[in-house]
Amino acid sequence: YADAAMYLAKDSGRNNYRFYDDALNRTMVRKMKIENSLRKGIEKNQFTLCYQPKVALDTKEIVGMEALLRWHHPELGWVSPAEFIPIAEETGSIVRIGQWVLRTACKQNKIWKEKGLPSMTVSVNVSVRQFQQGNLLSIIKEELENSQLDPGLLEIEITESIMQNTNKNVELLHQISDLGVGISIDDFGTGYSSLYVIQELPINTIKLDKSFIAKIHDKKQQVMINTIINMGKALDLNVVAEGIENENQYNRLLESNCSMGQGYLFSKPIAPKVFEELLWENEAIAVPGFQNYRQD
Ligand code: C2E
Ligand code: MG
Ligand code: MG
Ligand code: MG
Repeated sequence: YADAAMYLAKDSGRNNYRFYDDALNRTMVRKMKIENSLRKGIEKNQFTLCYQPKVALDTKEIVGMEALLRWHHPELGWVSPAEFIPIAEETGSIVRIGQWVLRTACKQNKIWKEKGLPSMTVSVNVSVRQFQQGNLLSIIKEELENSQLDPGLLEIEITESIMQNTNKNVELLHQISDLGVGISIDDFGTGYSSLYVIQELPINTIKLDKSFIAKIHDKKQQVMINTIINMGKALDLNVVAEGIENENQYNRLLESNCSMGQGYLFSKPIAPKVFEELLWENEAIAVPGFQNYRQD
């Protein structure tokens, strides 16, 4: 860095060096701010969950939902989970935040069930760090107990990085699965161990990563997508396509017999109140003829 700075300084004058230095500084200050305020975030009620519908692709009915964390920082405003989750993982605060997420999602799902809305699974993202630290099994048990939610109405979403520390994580996953909680592999196909993961882990669902869907016009990607869908079906797994943004992607996935999907085409992640209205009103969102799942 010092050498590069010297080179820049010599080559194009002091201004470039100052510019680089300031940008780096701002990034570090922001990261430190996030790091320091994550801990207070929970106590100060700065976190909320929003929910994104998961739909059955053939009927476009809502069949499930994914809970996604949102954080409004008093000074920085809305901070994306893509930015703060990795920091929370690094510092370990993900363990407490993760428990809050589980608690809130389980309670919310129970409330909706008691209001008479159709039973559906809530999917909660869980980081590898939560597997390694903190007692994930007892936290899940505690939150199921707390909310009195049927374990079958909770699913956890993990990534292929779970294969680090394999033995311990595999055992823990079996214990979680034995509770009746569903296990889903998020961002499927982007890791190094996709095939190993489906052989070794007690999973129910694979979520086809949105990078495949984004390039679905490409022949090679289509082959990969079809292969994953067919393999998933043959193994009795649910296959969910992530990041469906347009009709073309939707139609191609339908042709490929993909059973479920999530994406902006159907709905962005929305506040609980809006999600509930969506369920009650049974009204069209982005796609004409959109129908919500009702049990009448
Ligand atoms: P993810 O679990 O793969 O979640 C999907 C992400 O894609 C979400 O971003 C969602 O808003 C976004 N998305 C949904 N539909 C579309 C679409 O059609 N197009 C595009 N381009 N994006 C779409 P979000 O909410 O910003 O979350 C980012 C990541 O942060 C999540 O990826 C997940 O890995 C992590 N995350 C979010 N909430 C939690 C949480 O409560 N706990 C943990 N451990 N991680 C979380
Ligand atoms: Mg997810
Ligand atoms: Mg994903
Ligand atoms: Mg992810």
